[in-house]
Amino acid sequence: MNEEKYLICISGPSGAGKGTVVKALLEKHPEITISVSATTRQPRPGEVDHVHYHFITREAFEDNIQNQRMLEYNQYCGNYYGTLRPEVEKSILNHQVMILEIDVNGVENVKKVYPGALTVFILPPSMEELERRLSGRGTETQQVISQRLARAKEEMALADAYDVQIVNRDVDACVDELYSIIQERLK
Ligand code: 5GP
Repeated sequence: MNEEKYLICISGPSGAGKGTVVKALLEKHPEITISVSATTRQPRPGEVDHVHYHFITREAFEDNIQNQRMLEYNQYCGNYYGTLRPEVEKSILNHQVMILEIDVNGVENVKKVYPGALTVFILPPSMEELERRLSGRGTETQQVISQRLARAKEEMALADAYDVQIVNRDVDACVDELYSIIQERLK
């Protein structure tokens, strides 16, 4: 399907600045959309239904699975999380670029359905910088930081499987690089 090129999967370890890059990309290029995932977990304070997630019941989520309405899904800490297929289909059929900010497993599953989706991995400039960013949040203990770093190393080992790798040295430069890669893809 030619429309698959409108689908962009973005992954990267915690601390690589992926969320910041995606947010800046959407602000600078409002024609680009992002998929809102569905989840069965409770909203956190400040989270808005249909903006941060579609907050749905377990029953509704399982009904979506049964009826092939989940493009991909996973369980995390006892809750379901997943991408709604109708939302993605609607966007790409309208030739509107849609970003999926999902992990490695999610990307593998999306590729089974849409092999032509572009996959992008956002990397930190170095492990030292990643460590600095993770510690800089100041909210986690040294033990949690070490766990996150170990997990980040595991995830980064999978970067080669992505179509494109972008090093996030500077958010604006990273956004511009990502945008030109997307534009090139659409030609
Ligand atoms: P949180 O509860 O912190 O918002 O998310 C928990 C985990 O679920 C994170 O690792 C997040 O990346 C993952 N997640 C969020 N949405 C999706 C989704 O649509 N699909 C998959 N596979 N994972 C998701």
